[in-house]
Amino acid sequence: MIVIKAATELNHFLNGLKIKSKKIGFVATMGALHSGHISLIERSNRENDTTVCSIFVNPRQFNDPKDLEKYPRPIEKDILLLVKAGCNVLFIPDYEDIYSPNYVEPKINLEGLDTILEGAMRPGHFKGVALVVKRLFECVKPDAAYFGQKDYQQTLVIKQIVKEFKLPVKIVVTEIHREENGLAMSSRNIRLSYEQRNRAGFIYSALLQLKSNLKYLDINEALIKAKESILKEAGAKIEYLTIVEPDTLAQIEKIDQERSAIALVVVNYFGVRLLDNIYL
Ligand code: AMP
Repeated sequence: MIVIKAATELNHFLNGLKIKSKKIGFVATMGALHSGHISLIERSNRENDTTVCSIFVNPRQFNDPKDLEKYPRPIEKDILLLVKAGCNVLFIPDYEDIYSPNYVEPKINLEGLDTILEGAMRPGHFKGVALVVKRLFECVKPDAAYFGQKDYQQTLVIKQIVKEFKLPVKIVVTEIHREENGLAMSSRNIRLSYEQRNRAGFIYSALLQLKSNLKYLDINEALIKAKESILKEAGAKIEYLTIVEPDTLAQIEKIDQERSAIALVVVNYFGVRLLDNIYL
């Protein structure tokens, strides 16, 4: 694996591959890698000639400076995991490489995706995500880019940028990797104590229970039951638990066979925001 810091160097290296018609797969991360991230690398390896992974903790997507400060940055461990996973290129840009002094912020229309649910809880977050992913796509110019379903709303934001700027990249969304107890893997999970992490499977259990209850309960009743089971857990607060239409995130009042639906949840568990979702 080669490690590249400068965008110009990355460009030079990747152009050499593109001339030979090599397919480039891209995985954007903020580091503190776990097997969820690694599954994206492995999928990209299977579907492309070269996999590029970026590690960049993007200050512009943190609405809470303390969250940015606390974000884990175990770069040595990340490098070992990427080498083991067969990643070809690691891109670790500096802030100035992404947002150079003459960087002009593009106007991005996120069609309101940035103001609801996760966007409402974290004002400015998706604008920051959109800016950095657009810049990273400009640096890597991948044929395909891989994102996790865990950050479901983020995948819609990314599809919206691709549509708006007509970017020639295929967006692939991959399934959620979970701990044995069902907890969705996340770089933030290391902020939980050992006991809290062991207990935190209750979020996925509530989603499974919700899915199964919807076979005989209406949406409101099923949501109430799921919320009750989450709130039973000491330290758990629900930021949102909702059932929406997967493409628009519009609220759904009634489940029917014709339309697909997804439940999105964020639980604040002992101060750590844990995201999860399930197709219904
Ligand atoms: P992050 O480093 O948190 O920005 O995540 C980088 C990419 O990894 C994003 O596309 C995430 O959706 C994805 N990802 C994070 N957690 C998981 C997981 N548990 N399973 C699969 N993909 C994940």
